[in-house]
Amino acid sequence: MDLYEHQARELFGEYGIPVPEAETAQTAAQAREAAERLGGRVVVKAQVKTGGRGKAGGVKLAADAAAAEVTARQILGMDIKGHTVRTVMLAQPVDIEEEFYVSYVLDRAADAFLAIASAEGGMDIEEVAATRPEAVARIPVPPAEGVTADKAAEIAAAAGLPQETAPVLQALWQVLVREDALLVEVNPLVRTTAGDILALDGKVTLDDNARFRQARWGNDDATLHEDPLEAVAAAKGLNYVKLDGTVGVIGNGAGLVMSTLDVVAGCGARPANFLDIGGGASAAVMADGLSVILSDRDVNSVLVNVFGGITACDAVAEGIVQALDSVRLTKPLVVRLDGNNAARGRAILEERAHPLVQQSTTMDGAARRAADLAI
Ligand code: GDP
Ligand code: MN
Repeated sequence: MDLYEHQARELFGEYGIPVPEAETAQTAAQAREAAERLGGRVVVKAQVKTGGRGKAGGVKLAADAAAAEVTARQILGMDIKGHTVRTVMLAQPVDIEEEFYVSYVLDRAADAFLAIASAEGGMDIEEVAATRPEAVARIPVPPAEGVTADKAAEIAAAAGLPQETAPVLQALWQVLVREDALLVEVNPLVRTTAGDILALDGKVTLDDNARFRQARWGNDDATLHEDPLEAVAAAKGLNYVKLDGTVGVIGNGAGLVMSTLDVVAGCGARPANFLDIGGGASAAVMADGLSVILSDRDVNSVLVNVFGGITACDAVAEGIVQALDSVRLTKPLVVRLDGNNAARGRAILEERAHPLVQQSTTMDGAARRAADLAI
């Protein structure tokens, strides 16, 4: 789960990382009052869980409280990369001398964390890394050792950051470890004209496996899942993941679902999502799953791939038939049933004889048809 900037800022403050004074607001009137408390002149910042807010017009300087109200009215409701702005943060503006980039990310392949730092912060770090890789330092941080004073000094030196940033680098590591984060990023970390080091932006990604320890940020389904359908599915106890293709995929068991995704890709199509109905799935679960998958507008065809073990294929077929009664099928559905009670399952679907439902006895054959229907 990603935190909002204002939440990351709050954490940074608790760990002794200097941040500008700031408040949040949900309405333009609240923004005006907050700006008055902050001294009038403020930066108004869209609170959305995506980067590049500055370029999208979601970060603006307001000269006084009246201007903050006008600016907040503009930014609230704005769409930034598919995220609607519901909250703005108002922060005391800072006179920037230099902008740096610092982050810690998990490097799974190296069994370590990676400190990434650059003296060329503020802008798109991906672009800097692509065009001038030598300007971005990448220093492994063995998790058991962490960021000691020496390590922080090493990171700062490698990236060409002033040594005054070292305490911030150490404190950021503490945020990562104690808050169960997989990523902590500050872009920009700035040196002000007065010579102070300040975190002007913050991104923190928490490890969802530690959600039981992170109740502070809310760990209900809607908070945890950015995609509204993922939240609906989670509330129904289904494992649904949104992808960016056009074939909806339902299967039972993680292994079968993963290989189904591969076979769909092998047929030249891309999965729109996948949903694991798990072992022992009932007809009700199948009906819930199908309704979730069909609610995804990117879906052009649906592939149901079930190998009956504990889950009997006739129960799955009953679930599909039930779903056909409750949700209007508008996209073709290709079903492959094999294993426990497959013959009975296939017969149930044949008897229902829905014009948009077709069956295939093999996984490859079913994936081929679903792919052809989706492209
Ligand atoms: P992002 O575009 O989503 O990464 O949002 P940021 O919080 O990083 O803001 C974008 C840019 O706005 C930063 O890189 C800064 O250059 C600028 N900015 C943000 N806050 C201030 C501020 O207090 N003073 C000044 N001068 N610039 C700011
Ligand atoms: Mn930024």
